[in-house]
Amino acid sequence: MSEKRVRIRRRQRLIAENPYCCLCGGGAASTSEDHIPPRGCFPPGKHPEGIEFPACDDCNQATRPYDDIFGFYAMALDFNPENLEESAFHKKISGISNNYPGALPIFDCTANQKRSALKRMGMQRLPGQSLSDIGVFTPPAELLMAARIVIRKMTCAIYFRETGKILPREYRITGSWQQMQDTQRAPLVRYFNELLPEYRQPMRGNIRNYGMRLCYKFGYLESENFLAFVAQIGDGIIVNGMTIAPNASLPSPLKMPVWQVGAPWAD
Ligand SMILES: [Zn+2]
Repeated sequence: MSEKRVRIRRRQRLIAENPYCCLCGGGAASTSEDHIPPRGCFPPGKHPEGIEFPACDDCNQATRPYDDIFGFYAMALDFNPENLEESAFHKKISGISNNYPGALPIFDCTANQKRSALKRMGMQRLPGQSLSDIGVFTPPAELLMAARIVIRKMTCAIYFRETGKILPREYRITGSWQQMQDTQRAPLVRYFNELLPEYRQPMRGNIRNYGMRLCYKFGYLESENFLAFVAQIGDGIIVNGMTIAPNASLPSPLKMPVWQVGAPWAD
């Protein structure tokens, strides 16, 4: 059977076995598969297996542009040269320039702003590296929106993968994302790492030394129906997310954004 045929069969099976979209609270028929985190976070043909999820047309289509934008930044912010595939990345840059020009990084920082950004993130310049060599950018609104949408989708997807259930519509989601090198946010990630008991590292069967392109830690408290996770994509972006039960509230010092499960995606 051709590779394409295998893919179609797998998609048909996924939809047949999971008749409802796992992203919008249950009830909407699944008609397609959605890769979460987006396939665009990985070089072509190198996304891990087992990250396909049942989705309805509305969820899949409404979030597609944001998947592309997030995928571009996940690759652009990856500091491990082994993860960079230059030609694929150049293609991605032109794709973003053509389709979502407003989503490109804005390199408008002055030298002083760069200095304070590096300080804020606890990053040091390498010996001989000048400020002009460092690409500090202002994140465009499109990236901020894309990251929020991916956090929401990843929370629903990991909840679905690990509990076998669809996160209900009455639930809410909170979470955040960061660059790996951001030492200011490192304590939060360390805390999650120590706290969360389960570890997953999806692989790809046809690549022998697949390495670490995606991993996550999570914990699920069945009595409270509460799930929390922290995920690392390549060596670039870290995402964390949590479910919030209908009557629960977040401790106010956390000051984290809170989203409803499912549509509207762009709020
Ligand atoms: Zn849906």
